[in-house]
Amino acid sequence: MSALTNTSSIISQLLELLGADKVSTNTSVCDAHSHGEAYHGANMPEAVIFAESTQDVSAVLKLCHAHRVPVVAFGAGTSVEGHVTPPAHSISLDLSRMVDILEVNSPDLDCRVQAGITRQALNTFLRDTGLFFPVDPGGEATLGGMCATRASGTAAVRYGTMKENVLGLTVVMANGEVIQTGGRVRKSSTGYDLTSLFIGSEGTLGIITEVQLRLHGVPEQISAAVCQFDRLDDAVTTATEIIQMGIPIARVELLDDVQMEACIAFSSLTEFQPLTTLFFEFAGAPAAVSEQIALTESIALDNNGRSFSWADTQDERNRLWKARHNAYWAIKAKSTGKQVISTDCIVPISLLTDLITGVRQDIEQSGLYAAILGHVGDGNFHTLIVTEDTQEGYQQALDLDRKIVARALALGGSCSGEHGVGLGKLEFLETEHGSGALSVMRAVKAAFDPHNILNPGKLLPAGPVFEG
Ligand SMILES: Cc1cc2nc3c(=O)[nH]c(=O)nc-3n(C[C@H](O)[C@H](O)[C@H](O)COP(=O)(O)OP(=O)(O)OC[C@H]3O[C@@H](n4cnc5c(N)ncnc54)[C@H](O)[C@@H]3O)c2cc1C
Repeated sequence: MSALTNTSSIISQLLELLGADKVSTNTSVCDAHSHGEAYHGANMPEAVIFAESTQDVSAVLKLCHAHRVPVVAFGAGTSVEGHVTPPAHSISLDLSRMVDILEVNSPDLDCRVQAGITRQALNTFLRDTGLFFPVDPGGEATLGGMCATRASGTAAVRYGTMKENVLGLTVVMANGEVIQTGGRVRKSSTGYDLTSLFIGSEGTLGIITEVQLRLHGVPEQISAAVCQFDRLDDAVTTATEIIQMGIPIARVELLDDVQMEACIAFSSLTEFQPLTTLFFEFAGAPAAVSEQIALTESIALDNNGRSFSWADTQDERNRLWKARHNAYWAIKAKSTGKQVISTDCIVPISLLTDLITGVRQDIEQSGLYAAILGHVGDGNFHTLIVTEDTQEGYQQALDLDRKIVARALALGGSCSGEHGVGLGKLEFLETEHGSGALSVMRAVKAAFDPHNILNPGKLLPAGPVFEG
């Protein structure tokens, strides 16, 4: 039977099994699942399945496994490297209806949620408990998608990424079998760490249906500040020295002058100049916060920072961080009719100033309009490259991205600190990990998904498999 006939027969069986409410072949629904928030080409799935339970996911995978039909898990579709672009004759498995909060264990600071809930919805639910979940990628992402991309965000410098904040998972394997990984305890030294293996696996090893998360207490005091700089390297050095001094800063985000100009216009930040800027957040007991602020201010002033502007009320803080989270949309708004490509790389923090100043020169040489912003406290930043919406335009942007990645890898960094591989970063994996490590990764993939039905073609470039 051809792949297409296989998929058509599966769709009829899924309709019978799950009902018409959960299976759609509608063109606009398929179109909405044909791509993520990325420049990689779109491709329509044959159908979209809206799972409502682990059992639904298991039923879909059992059928697709038996008939060798590819399945692409879809959370909110905010990933930026082509992760959710369906291959030919595949099914998109949407988890966004799985939004239940299954338990909140306040005394142990943990909770269990279904994979389709967004981080914003979880935090709204937790608002009166004194607890919160800190990992905050910019988009309205789902917890399942965040696990699958090993996401982080502005608060990772203090609270870590998804890797540090997931205690356990329920996962449906390629053949439909349901397994549990990890648990509720803070540590365990038993068995292989399957939870970590699924975190960052981009839907290629199993479909996550439930997530056990670590929660954190809302700090007693939170203060936010902004400091502007005339020079990019002074701002990056300030962030680096804050981390090297061990100041437990809650957030430290860089926006270069290009990004700041766009944010001022998009988010009405009219009190600021279009200069390179650091956004800071300090959190903890009042005395500790005062100490962190004093140390940070003195480091910034020593590096030629201008005076600090303070956001003391929650409304002012929300306004600042919303503007930071809208940075991508601010550049998009300035670039009507063009494409915005978001790159992502990371280096050890002591090398960040060298890398970012080098990348600024690369941007100038390219002649492209591009902004630099990022989670500099982790050594991680993005370049938002604006390009003509043509093949030539893409090529120019990709050439610049390749230069940026080459600089990061030469400094012992990674081609992605948080966005992941998808399709966009495949070409860099061998240089970053080496052929031996890649062949072991392919052996893991073959063991978990022997018929290669789970998001095929993503995360791993083709090549030899480790055979021992
Ligand atoms: C404006 C903007 C800002 C962003 N900022 C950040 C940032 O600061 N930090 C960051 O880390 N990312 C950032 N991102 C990227 C994106 O938000 C993250 O990658 C996010 O984790 C994706 O979640 P999602 O629910 O949208 O997943 P999707 O895009 O739907 O899926 C992503 C991948 O996970 C797989 N997947 C989804 N759900 C599951 C599941 N339940 N089980 C198994 N696999 C699954 C998919 O198959 C796909 O491979 C940003 C994106 C945008 C548009």
